[in-house]
Amino acid sequence: MKKTSVTLAVCAALLTFAVSTTSMAQNQSSKQTPESTEIYEPVPPVVTPGVVTANTSGTTPPSDATVLFDGKNTDQWVAITGYDPASWEKTNAGPLKWPVRDGIMYSTKGFSARSKQEFNDFQLHIEFKTPEKVEGKGQGRGNSGVFLQGRYELQVLDNYENPTYVDGMVGSIYKQAIPLANPSRKPGEWQSYDIIYQAPRFNKAGMMTDYAYVTVLLNGVLVQNHAAIRGTTEYIGYPKVQPHGAGPILLQDHGNPVGFRNIWVRPL
Ligand code: MG
Repeated sequence: MKKTSVTLAVCAALLTFAVSTTSMAQNQSSKQTPESTEIYEPVPPVVTPGVVTANTSGTTPPSDATVLFDGKNTDQWVAITGYDPASWEKTNAGPLKWPVRDGIMYSTKGFSARSKQEFNDFQLHIEFKTPEKVEGKGQGRGNSGVFLQGRYELQVLDNYENPTYVDGMVGSIYKQAIPLANPSRKPGEWQSYDIIYQAPRFNKAGMMTDYAYVTVLLNGVLVQNHAAIRGTTEYIGYPKVQPHGAGPILLQDHGNPVGFRNIWVRPL
């Protein structure tokens, strides 16, 4: 090694030592305490959680929830014909006449249910049961659906020992996201969905800048883990991107009498 090279190497080493020494000194002068990483505001709101009852799979609504069905009436819903956005945005057949019996409302042929209130990001709890008497097979057995913002179907289907295409089975985002598991209960038994939904984002030009994302528990088992929803859930063809704002919860009529109870939402 030449003499100049040795000199440069020594200088570099001294500089490194000086920098590290300064850094240590700074760390010591701003010594961390337990309090320096404790945050006191804003304080999360107090929410009284729901309770487990004989008539719930999960809990009753927590104190800050918007109740969409409490077992008494369908006042929070209107009837619509068709469940694709193009039809439901134009049709309102008036009050929902789905029958309510023993605290349960049953889907009725010809009309889907649209919530009067609209939501952006939310947590949704809903309980359903497919008919105890098994009729049909595949997609024709206990078919309904929970349409998030009225556009994106989380499939409801009796998939207990009833195979169908996996991107259309219970727990799927219809034809977009295959569920991670099939924790189906038997026909006629109560099942529950707990859904955490983040709406898609659009810019002023109507372009989607972020997908919708959904996390879903079916009967307490994770079936969708922050799954991206790329557009509408189409029976035929690819997802369509349609800019939109807040949207309703829509319960699909697919010709099978599916029962629902204990439906509540927490806007996020
Ligand atoms: Mg369906």
